[in-house]
Amino acid sequence: MAAPWEDVLRDRPAIQEAAAVAVDAALLQGVLMRTEGQPNASDVVNFAPFTLLPSAVPSALFEQAYAVQQDFNMLVDAISQNKEFLEHTLASTIKVDDFTARLFRIYTQVLEEGLAQSVFLGINRSDYMFDCGVDGPPALKQIEINTIAASFGGLTSRTVAVHGQVLKVLGKPQEASRLPPNNPSRGLALGIAKAWELYGSPSAVVMFLVEKVQRNIFDQRCVENELWNRNIRVIRKRFRDVFEKGSLDEARRLYMDGQEVAVVYYREGYVPSNYDEQNWEARLLLERSRAVKCPDIATQLAGTKKVQQELSRPGTLERLLPGHAEAVTRIRATFAGLYSLDMGAEGDKVAAMAIADPDRFVLKPQREGGGNNLYGEDLRQVLEKIRDSPQRTSYILMDKIKPRPAMNYLLRAHSPLQESECISELGIFGVYVRRGSELVLNKAAGHLLRTKAVEHADGGVAAGVAVLDTPYLV
Ligand code: ADP
Ligand code: MG
Repeated sequence: MAAPWEDVLRDRPAIQEAAAVAVDAALLQGVLMRTEGQPNASDVVNFAPFTLLPSAVPSALFEQAYAVQQDFNMLVDAISQNKEFLEHTLASTIKVDDFTARLFRIYTQVLEEGLAQSVFLGINRSDYMFDCGVDGPPALKQIEINTIAASFGGLTSRTVAVHGQVLKVLGKPQEASRLPPNNPSRGLALGIAKAWELYGSPSAVVMFLVEKVQRNIFDQRCVENELWNRNIRVIRKRFRDVFEKGSLDEARRLYMDGQEVAVVYYREGYVPSNYDEQNWEARLLLERSRAVKCPDIATQLAGTKKVQQELSRPGTLERLLPGHAEAVTRIRATFAGLYSLDMGAEGDKVAAMAIADPDRFVLKPQREGGGNNLYGEDLRQVLEKIRDSPQRTSYILMDKIKPRPAMNYLLRAHSPLQESECISELGIFGVYVRRGSELVLNKAAGHLLRTKAVEHADGGVAAGVAVLDTPYLV
């Protein structure tokens, strides 16, 4: 994956001109974020960070990632319906990880009461890097799958036009015409609209459950607008609003301020800091309700790192997806080495292996949102401290993926224009709707490419490390 732009990268005046055009194009296209200083007001906004140039992505791997997405949708959906698997897989984790334990408690509670809704809506994003090992050809390896609040489907729908214009400014109109079109926000809205329709009450609304800090509101608005265009009402609420004003009727229909809610779309609720006691109560109310939840709590649990690790055990995929041998093969081909740190001889061996060679691995807790993983010397120190304690089971171990870096410019508001050595992560959005036992919709909905400087081991766009990008297929 040599950078396809080597000729222009060194032409500093051309780069400077292109960067100025790029920033204005991003603003015009709506690649926007609220500012750190005023995260909840749109009076002052800025462009969301993005690369000056689109990054090279091998087309075979791009196609492979799309081709496996329906399989992953089916897999996540199957896991969410498999109580025995979730119970068994998360047994060790919930003993030591309070957050997962709390989610799990709500999961058991709603199952005991009986589910009030038989329609399920899944929106996920499966993320990959292109592993080159020491010096091999790139291979598609999954980093993780996000089953709740997977973001940037909106803003990334708008980066293609920006990068297309940059390439034209740099004298590459041919290349500009080759950027693959992308519109995840439409695909996500299609799924939400389908769930809304199956809910079957034309006056009911879709509720976006949003965080306290809403810097990324424009990303969500892209999806909202697609729903409004279909004449579906959208409201934006927080857990706090649900706690104060949400209620269930005798059929467990969910009402907010007297409005019936057909679909709850979580852009919140994925990290411990999203919850206080009242918010946990609100979450329970939502899960008990008849509204379609995106995701329901079982699907959120299906996206934990612990589940990801257990999926890589020989025989597990076959058990979860009987009769789908080809899907199993496609899914397994994307797995990197994943290792359990459960107590016992297997976990002891894994801990010793990681401590002996920490640079080969990543140590991951059950957290989302970037910035939580441990690498290198930190990994070694933490694991040495907890290697004999059950605390180690709150983590999983994963082979470190080694993509080949390429040069690019990362454009950020108030930052000088500077060339960086970068690596990229490709995400594919998946959408599915199930009614009872029938998958009525199962689709890949678009892609997201995020790029960061190599010196950052971890962190996404929201965390201020990665920036939005567009794949240039090679
Ligand atoms: P989170 O839920 O916090 O997003 P991820 O598993 O996606 O957790 O890890 C966060 C980031 O860490 C990724 O975006 C990627 O940059 C890096 N990372 C995660 N796993 C690996 C891996 N196995 N090899 C190399 N980098 C990784
Ligand atoms: Mg991630």
